[in-house]
Amino acid sequence: MGLIVQKFGGTSVGSPERIKNVAARVAKFLTRGHQLVVVVSAISGETNRLLALAKEVQAEPDPRELDVVLATGEQVTIGLLCMALLERGIKARSYNGAQVRILTDGAHTKARILKIDEERMRADLEAGTVVVVAGFQGVDAQGNVTTLGRGGSDTTGVALAAALKADECQIYTDVDGVYTTDPRIVPEARRLKSVTFEEMLEMASLGSKVLQIRSVEFAGKYKVRLRVLSSFQDEGDGTLITFEDDKMEQAVISGIAFNRDEAKITVMGVPDRPGIAYAILGPIGEANIDVDMIIQNAGVDGMTDFSFTVHRNEYQKALDVLNKQVKGHIKASDIRGDPKICKVSMVGVGMRTHAGIASRMFRTLSEEGINIQMISTSEIKISVVIDEKYMELAVRALHKVFELDQPA
Ligand code: ADP
Ligand code: ASP
Ligand code: MG
Repeated sequence: MGLIVQKFGGTSVGSPERIKNVAARVAKFLTRGHQLVVVVSAISGETNRLLALAKEVQAEPDPRELDVVLATGEQVTIGLLCMALLERGIKARSYNGAQVRILTDGAHTKARILKIDEERMRADLEAGTVVVVAGFQGVDAQGNVTTLGRGGSDTTGVALAAALKADECQIYTDVDGVYTTDPRIVPEARRLKSVTFEEMLEMASLGSKVLQIRSVEFAGKYKVRLRVLSSFQDEGDGTLITFEDDKMEQAVISGIAFNRDEAKITVMGVPDRPGIAYAILGPIGEANIDVDMIIQNAGVDGMTDFSFTVHRNEYQKALDVLNKQVKGHIKASDIRGDPKICKVSMVGVGMRTHAGIASRMFRTLSEEGINIQMISTSEIKISVVIDEKYMELAVRALHKVFELDQPA
């Protein structure tokens, strides 16, 4: 018996039938004596539909008003799920983010949760009522509706589990756990029984969208017991995110992540002198554009090239900033960009103790004839930027060479 937070993603609430299935699962947990808080996403495709609708009216939608529109998706599913529960004779109440009072900062479309009021939820739980909360949304100190960034319902789930000190947070989705890589790209991908928090954090930040990165951060900060499970299967333990770093048990590589959302920009022929990185990236930072990988080539005759990657959504904005504020100022010969890149990353805590992983990765890519444009490493990951068209080939080849399809 305990308090469990369950989060159901868009496909898991994708039709009236599926919403009824969620209610059946909730009923099953109630009969085991658990208290339940259920977080739901909007019906799959709905957030995209709302976003497209907004863009038809205003090409660059006003962020405050966009959040008002986007937050409606989850308001539909909380009401529907409560109806399905009531139909089964289960006491249930729905709350949107503002009603719970999930207080966030005011950064519309990517707000961060600051505080969660738990009194109302506690009172319901004590009264034997299932609490159903809209994912992906909150309210700022001025009462404005905010949203938490795409995939943000995961974060609502984990943040509620942290606030309520729940025994477990269960993320139900359309796959039965965290896999060695996206099973949609590599059918041989294998479900991991467990993955360390550090690895999950890297995988999420490097593009594995099975969990939103902020949900993993929350789990780490508040030591939430977090599990990813299938909403379509009744059995199975899914994948547990663990906090112990038990190297004996660990495979060298746990997973491969990829990200097609970045673009590369190169500033050509810049003088190789102190202050150049700042002269280029300072204005980019001031324009609120996040930079990921950075490479400065060795200087030849006092000149060098400088490359970095940004989110594809901010690619044009970054080019504009460079052309207007930087190119003339530092007398760069040219600014070149490539939005058709992809970042492929291998992640594993076992890398700390094993040499030669990087060279094996590079050899595998070279044997496939794939050119590596950029490289970056940390203690537990290696990332390369390659041409987008080779993404699937690269991920499949690496998955095979590192034997990720074989049980660890
Ligand atoms: P939900 O709507 O339930 O939040 P998402 O689409 O956000 O679901 O996340 C689940 C999807 O994440 C899966 O369908 C899968 O294609 C993708 N995915 C990417 N990387 C992985 C991985 N390493 N393991 C499992 N799923 C992954
Ligand atoms: N509905 C939101 C989205 O599509 C949040 C979520 O599903 O987690 O991004
Ligand atoms: Mg998701």
